[in-house]
Amino acid sequence: MPADYHMHTPLCNHAVGEPEEYARRALEAGLGEIGFSDHTPMPTTYDPDWRMTIAQLPEYVEKVLRCRRAFPELSIKLGLESDFHPGTEEFVREVIGRVPFDYVIGSIHYLGDWGFDNPEKAHLFEGRDVYPIYEQYYGLVEGLARTRMFDILGHPDVIKKFGHRPSRDYEALELRALDAVAGAGMALDINTSGLRRPAKEIYPSLRILKAARARDIGITFGSDAHEPARVGDAFDRAVALAREAGYTHSRRYVARRFERVPLA
Ligand SMILES: [Zn+2]
Ligand SMILES: [Zn+2]
Repeated sequence: MPADYHMHTPLCNHAVGEPEEYARRALEAGLGEIGFSDHTPMPTTYDPDWRMTIAQLPEYVEKVLRCRRAFPELSIKLGLESDFHPGTEEFVREVIGRVPFDYVIGSIHYLGDWGFDNPEKAHLFEGRDVYPIYEQYYGLVEGLARTRMFDILGHPDVIKKFGHRPSRDYEALELRALDAVAGAGMALDINTSGLRRPAKEIYPSLRILKAARARDIGITFGSDAHEPARVGDAFDRAVALAREAGYTHSRRYVARRFERVPLA
């Protein structure tokens, strides 16, 4: 099984289980490498209830390093899931620069002040033309890539989370975003959490993954675990999807550099 690079800690206030419990589960699931990527600190005006504070960043790093010491038989990476939100780039850049992360995932969780992936805000999709929403989302993905701040695009088509899809063709939006991702040398996070959402699909779709393969965009795998039981969740399906798209390798990151490893 490939490495699980998308896992959280209780410091984000919406995950349970200490890193050691995730590590134990990873060993049970037969993983040889994992990486923690908890939600980044942000300016206090941005979604403060769902993340660690900037003052807690050292505690986060220590938790992951403590876990690494406790499990020498497991490769444990120190990552971060950062938000791309126009206007906060300098804050986030400074946060990323404080710690020698192995990788940084860049994700979009907000369109303006709408937390579109929050189940409590999902009703705002209802009765709307979904195409401009997708257009806005993929425009932000392009902006994310252009910052060159991130290594991996988190849950690439999370805009489909609640099952809303435009009635007209929107592939061009995806392709433009992928061109930007390719230009930035980033990888895609093949994220199995979408299987548990109304979309009932891995992020990203096979269509996106095939187009990514054609652009030589790399891949990593993530469960987006917010509890230990989810570590490595449905990775057999994720690997099968990657293979179907033509992938033979994934990426592993150390100190924000990657190497390619064969899909097991
Ligand atoms: Zn989360
Ligand atoms: Zn996320």
